Amino acid sequence: MNHFDDSLLQSDKIFIGGEWRPGKSHAFASIYPADQSINAEIRAASAQDANEAVEAADLAWRKADWSGLKPHQRAAVLHKIANLIESRQEALAQLQRRDNGKPINETRGLVASAANTFRYFASCVETLEESLTPARGDYMTMSVHEPLGVVAAITPWNSPIASDAQKLAPALAAGNAVVLKPAEITPLASLALARICEEAGVPKGVLSVLPGKGSVVGDLLVRHPLVKKVSFTGGTEVGRGIARLAAEKLMPISLELGGKSPTIVFEDADLDHAVNGVLYGIFSSSGESCIAGARLFVARSIYDEFVTRLTHAAQRLRVGDPSHDDTQMGPLISAQHRETVERYVALGLEEGGRLLCGGERPTGEGREAGFYYLPTILAGLTNEARICQEEIFGPVLVILPFDDDASLLKQANNSVFGLAAGIWTRDYKRAWRIGRALETGTVWINTYKQFSISTPFGGWKDSGMGREKGYLGIREYMQQKSFYWGLNDSPLAWAN
Ligand code: NAD
Repeated sequence: MNHFDDSLLQSDKIFIGGEWRPGKSHAFASIYPADQSINAEIRAASAQDANEAVEAADLAWRKADWSGLKPHQRAAVLHKIANLIESRQEALAQLQRRDNGKPINETRGLVASAANTFRYFASCVETLEESLTPARGDYMTMSVHEPLGVVAAITPWNSPIASDAQKLAPALAAGNAVVLKPAEITPLASLALARICEEAGVPKGVLSVLPGKGSVVGDLLVRHPLVKKVSFTGGTEVGRGIARLAAEKLMPISLELGGKSPTIVFEDADLDHAVNGVLYGIFSSSGESCIAGARLFVARSIYDEFVTRLTHAAQRLRVGDPSHDDTQMGPLISAQHRETVERYVALGLEEGGRLLCGGERPTGEGREAGFYYLPTILAGLTNEARICQEEIFGPVLVILPFDDDASLLKQANNSVFGLAAGIWTRDYKRAWRIGRALETGTVWINTYKQFSISTPFGGWKDSGMGREKGYLGIREYMQQKSFYWGLNDSPLAWAN
């Protein structure tokens, strides 16, 4: 079955070294999580395909018809990619919706963000300056940056088109060749992006897109001697394994990993805004978001009122067909993932938690056919409970009361993760003080889950290393080189 614009997908083929052909591994189906119908069948990449893609990328990079372009010439191609994404905005958003079941309003936002990302890094590379450094002798000193060579980009299934763009745009802008390995279960948007890059004029071999198994294709890319950097977004344990292998090769890596982000509601917060922001923070994307605000700390003096309001509002969320404009939560990605979420809720109850809402699959309106799960809130646990410490990656919120700033900070920071946090208060001095003390890479104050491509993003602690986005995001895909230009008329003194 093919629901898609033929200019975006090439039947069962993948993109290896500039050629569209079926991968040499197994056939697999991309499934629509809302009703389990088949979107498309793809032949996955094998280790041999991955090896060919890396070799083609290395050749293409050395051939220099991409890396050797002037920055403004590469920028022109990136702008073209952005234009092509925008001209197919709706088709790409529908493709992304079918591939991972996110509501259409959200996938439209992801596609727009992908186009913006290409534009932003086009502007970066065109305007980046190198520096003359202060000389300390009879020479002129310069610092310049070169591409790394072949970059492997490995991405997860929750927001493929946006996370692919966040790696492809800066890596290509910097003059690298890229082998992209999307999650096996959500390959469609990544393959569509490959077609767009090809059409925009990215030279043959500079980009490959290899849907396939992480343990085969991903592992080969990480170990391959011609791969000079891995930029990875995914789970913490896989990221840790990549870091170990990278240490052997002394290879730079960027890791965007998991989270269990705290959201804090102080007694002086605008409670309407806070209820709305907390719901959005945890339940948008059905909680399948690394930055989901999964642990909620509420000041004890407003705890009962806030929890009642939040629970009523959570029960009114529209959970259903992702093709409807007003759907707030679609299905989870797979049956297996829903079972994991269910196991965590059962564990939370065993640990002494009280279910305030959700905790089950919704029925009616055809939802039995999909992997739906209701927005779920648990209370009555301590921050040490496993359900408060481990990433669930689903629509499950745990609520805890707090008494003062010191005990709040102790609990909020008591986590192996350090990705993001939210603070709701009218007291800007307290927001600043608490925000500075939180051990996380991003802090939202009186808002949540807002993103700007011009602001760096990344995790502390087990949530990752390296930064994406922001002007300096492109430097993560470059290596620095120093030049000394001798200005002496006479030979170096030592030789005399
Ligand atoms: P995952 O770690 O299972 O997979 C991510 C990617 O890594 C996939 O393409 C997978 O095939 C590949 N992979 C798996 N094993 C590999 C190996 N041994 N070597 C190389 N590659 C391998 O994660 P997932 O389940 O797809 O995604 C969910 C996770 O991603 C969550 O933990 C979430 O928090 C995290 N995430 C983080 C961010 C961020 O920016 N920090 C954003 C989105 C998702």
